[in-house]
Amino acid sequence: MIDLRSDTVTKPDDEMRTAAAEAAVGDDVYDEDPTVNDLEERAADRVGTDAALFVPTGTMGNQIAIRGHTERGQELIADRESHVVKWELGGIAQHAQVQVRMVDGERGRPTPAQVDASYVAEDLHRPGTGLVCLENTHNARGGLAIPPEQVAATAEAAHDRGVPVHLDGARVFNAATALDVPVTELTEPVDSVMFCLSKGLGAPVGSMLAGDADFIERARRTRKLFGGGMRQAGVIAGPGLAALENVPDLATDHEHASLLAAGLDDIVGLSAPDPESNIVVVDVADTGLDVDTVLERLEDEGVRATPFGPTTIRLCAHRDVDRGDIETAIERASAAIASA
Ligand SMILES: *Cc1c(COP(=O)(O)O)cnc(C)c1O
Repeated sequence: MIDLRSDTVTKPDDEMRTAAAEAAVGDDVYDEDPTVNDLEERAADRVGTDAALFVPTGTMGNQIAIRGHTERGQELIADRESHVVKWELGGIAQHAQVQVRMVDGERGRPTPAQVDASYVAEDLHRPGTGLVCLENTHNARGGLAIPPEQVAATAEAAHDRGVPVHLDGARVFNAATALDVPVTELTEPVDSVMFCLSKGLGAPVGSMLAGDADFIERARRTRKLFGGGMRQAGVIAGPGLAALENVPDLATDHEHASLLAAGLDDIVGLSAPDPESNIVVVDVADTGLDVDTVLERLEDEGVRATPFGPTTIRLCAHRDVDRGDIETAIERASAAIASA
């Protein structure tokens, strides 16, 4: 089976398993786990912030950040297709008690003009804007990478209004690779960033929330509130640290994604634009089959993908598939569609 559902399906390699087995540990709720402390320091360094917090999932990292930046009853501005809006169970309403002002962002990015137009000043009747959220790469828009100057322009528009910016950078290392810039160029303009160790970086568990020292200190309390205070977490931080010290070759994943898209696009009935990073979105409408049928047929041929939109499916390149797997996946997809 060639599993292309997500870049989260990767298995920890030998180096990560060794890091887990050999991790120095302590009780992280008492701040005594040396491996977690190392990871938090290294992560902050990598994205150019004062501090960082190890969290079990990207979702928890985003939710802690949103809660930390906002007051109950405020609004936040986000792209309508963003993960925080679409895929986090309405956590913004549940955990932060904040309402969302959605915009149809330009390639998934709320533009400076949209921030200006959506901004709400607090008064007797209006809640006030508390946060702008960005996402890079943008998952639901097919792994689009937002260039540093565009991140900076949106952040500046928010900051001009006194509004902080959180970056959902689940795949910010993919964005940096796609744009060929240091990751700090993408994180420097924002006030906090979440990135996942468990996606393209290949670690089994965990994400990081990074920001200034005061924000992270408060985030640590919110993590406890959300039930995310972990004990000898060095056993999962160790593999994360290994992933961060030795970031996999994401450029190769992106090449594989391009190759996959080109191959799938050549199959009659499938349409797949060239991706900017590791996420391939395929429109299956012209096969005359519905998404579920296409996915079943792919599975029968030994390829796993995931449903995405009403007529689209998603496939991700990741470190556990090589060029041969991509070529095989294209052949199998061709067989799956031909059997229509
Ligand atoms: C996967 C993802 C998350 C959440 O990460 P989990 O660890 O699965 O909770 C957040 N944002 C984006 C853009 C993602 O792709």
